[in-house]
Amino acid sequence: MARMIIRPEYIIGGEAHFTTEFTVSQAQYDLVVIGGGSGGLACAQRAAQYGASAAVIESGRLGGTCVNVGCVPKKIMWNAAGIAQALNDAAAYGFGAARSEVDWAALKLRRDAYILRLNEIYARNLDKRNVELIRGSANFVDAHTLTVNGARVSAPHIVIATGGQPARPHLPGQELGLTSDDFFAMEQRPERVAVVGSGYIACELFDAFCKLGSDAELFIRKDTVLNHFEPTLGEHLLHEMRERGATINTRVIPAALLAEPDGTTLVGADGHRFSGYDAVLWAIGRDPNVHSLQLANAGVAQDMLGHVITNEFQDTNVPGIHAIGDVTGRIPLTPVAIAAGRRLSDRLFGGQAGSRLDYTRIPTVVFTHPPIGSIGFSEVAARVLHGDAVKVYAHDFVGLYHAVTEQKPRSAMRLVCVGPEEKIVGCHIIGDGADEMLQGFAVAIRMGATKRDFDDTVAIHPTSAEELVTMR
Ligand code: FAD
Ligand code: NDP
Repeated sequence: MARMIIRPEYIIGGEAHFTTEFTVSQAQYDLVVIGGGSGGLACAQRAAQYGASAAVIESGRLGGTCVNVGCVPKKIMWNAAGIAQALNDAAAYGFGAARSEVDWAALKLRRDAYILRLNEIYARNLDKRNVELIRGSANFVDAHTLTVNGARVSAPHIVIATGGQPARPHLPGQELGLTSDDFFAMEQRPERVAVVGSGYIACELFDAFCKLGSDAELFIRKDTVLNHFEPTLGEHLLHEMRERGATINTRVIPAALLAEPDGTTLVGADGHRFSGYDAVLWAIGRDPNVHSLQLANAGVAQDMLGHVITNEFQDTNVPGIHAIGDVTGRIPLTPVAIAAGRRLSDRLFGGQAGSRLDYTRIPTVVFTHPPIGSIGFSEVAARVLHGDAVKVYAHDFVGLYHAVTEQKPRSAMRLVCVGPEEKIVGCHIIGDGADEMLQGFAVAIRMGATKRDFDDTVAIHPTSAEELVTMR
């Protein structure tokens, strides 16, 4: 099998350009994965470990959303925002006035260079693991055959792992707005920016803009953000953001964007106009990447939003066609896509007949300042299932870091417990360190930990995490 290392010459935010010409070295594989993102790469590499002949077809940059326009560059911006915040606190720690402006362009250069290295590492990993990388956009001819750049490729197992793309609203002037993909292409920090949305991306990018010095405003349709989470988390986050001077416009239903001499204007459904933005960023969800696939040729069923419908084993309605990751619309997170992909290959090629991902109790973090960590049921969801058998332990406090700082952001934690044994079914944290804190607690909660197990665990002092094992 001829394999190749593809070296992107240049990218980020725009089109990828490659030095290596595309060829398909064989027409038949045991497994073909469409999409070289988090899920697709994991699935194909696991299959190859079992000796299957596997190919990945990728139309853009290797690594998909997470590496190129998602988790990785976002986390770098979150780190930068954290440094800006620490610089603000520096004087309180005796460092004098240590404030300085971020050089956005310089930061972007370093971020882009890191991502380029990741692209290359991912290509080398495929090569090392005997997975063929096919460059191009795939579409279905029939249930077992794809075309890519005019060539036909077939396999008894085809995995759709094409991810998603930022959604845009259907309203006049929507094209004047940017998306998270455009955020990562920005060469300069916008001075005045409006972020529309209330989910992960809106909160994270709004927070980054604010901390890095933009005059940013958040526009939400309801009263608070992160409405799919334990409600106290979103309320607490908004409170802390407002305490730091952020402007949050609630109950604004966007109706139009206008290009005006002083910048972009956002018009609300009630006619209210918000003017003068250098950038308006839509962060209102993501759509599945299915349009180029011609799924109808294979008869693959989709839901109303276009997601590929899968069962518990990641199988679609068509035998031999499977789907994983964001394109399925099931908890669109990188580790979820990876885990679903690996388990699928364990089942198809590794002799593990029952292998499948358990989609319950998946931990997640929102990378804001303060960060949020959350796993399991909110109090409301637990009460729907268990009624009065639910008991909630809650605690909020000012972390020791802020003992000497001017700002006094509070951290908050909630443990949702069920039954006389007080089994922990939900854990929700907002505050410094929540991002790193949750992973270990998630292991305990998956293992069925009770409140008593937490109480019996000796605390680590002085930390914020110790509050989780000392709650009364
Ligand atoms: P993707 O990674 O999107 O990969 C799909 C690939 O398929 C793409 O490379 C695409 O080019 C390719 N493709 C599409 N159509 C075709 C075709 N027809 N032929 C060939 N190739 C095709 N998740 C976290 O867990 N933590 C985070 O901190 C986090 N932050 C995020 C921040 C942002 C701004 C965004 C947008 C997302 C973030 N996510 C995060 C979500 C995470 O990025 C996704 O859940 C994850 O990338 C999904 O992986 P996937 O394999 O399903 O799809
Ligand atoms: P989300 O689903 O998190 O949030 C989008 C929200 O925007 C909706 O819930 C809705 O909230 C609001 N909204 C929808 N339509 C409109 C509209 N027309 N006008 C105004 N507001 C609207 O989507 P994101 O795009 O933020 O993120 C997509 C996914 O990517 C996430 O679900 C997450 O799984 C993943 N992700 C993960 C991250 C992480 O792990 N840290 C970071 C970033 C993304 P409401 O109903 O309250 O108005």
